[in-house]
Amino acid sequence: MAAKKNQQPPVRIGYGFDSHEFKSGIPLKIGGVALPHTAGLGGHSDGDVLLHAITDALLGAVAAPDIGSLFPPSDPKWKGADSAVFLQEAMKRVKAAGYAIANLDSSLVLSAPKIGPHAGEIRSRVAKLLGIAPDCIGLKAKTPEGLGTDNTAIAHVAVLLAQVAKSKTKTARKKR
Ligand code: MG
Repeated sequence: MAAKKNQQPPVRIGYGFDSHEFKSGIPLKIGGVALPHTAGLGGHSDGDVLLHAITDALLGAVAAPDIGSLFPPSDPKWKGADSAVFLQEAMKRVKAAGYAIANLDSSLVLSAPKIGPHAGEIRSRVAKLLGIAPDCIGLKAKTPEGLGTDNTAIAHVAVLLAQVAKSKTKTARKKR
């Protein structure tokens, strides 16, 4: 399975982590879905902790610069930005590197709200954003027992990329 020199590996793994603090009076968005809650996640963009971790996992898988380097919080351009924009840039880079997403797994760590009732909707939304089937999106939610992070939402994401076979038909057509 090991890639030879100057040869791309057939699969690549990516890992992403993110955390945001809860702030009252702002909307809560996780995985591109607005969730009913008394507080939202603070941050320069929309604070979507799950989309940020997915973005970093995708960027890491193709050894691209991380989300903070591509979309610096110091840039006013990204104030209140829809995090789907960051995800789209990461997907563009994955595609350019010659890969497609095989599957993705994630864990959310937060004390509230309960994710279970919204898990289906979040998986569908993330699947739609990534252009893959919902059964290729894993989503687990845990309470931060013993972590002392009750006012924080944390996301861990692992992603697997598979190399896209170069189209033979294209080359064959060119030869004609
Ligand atoms: Mg973030």
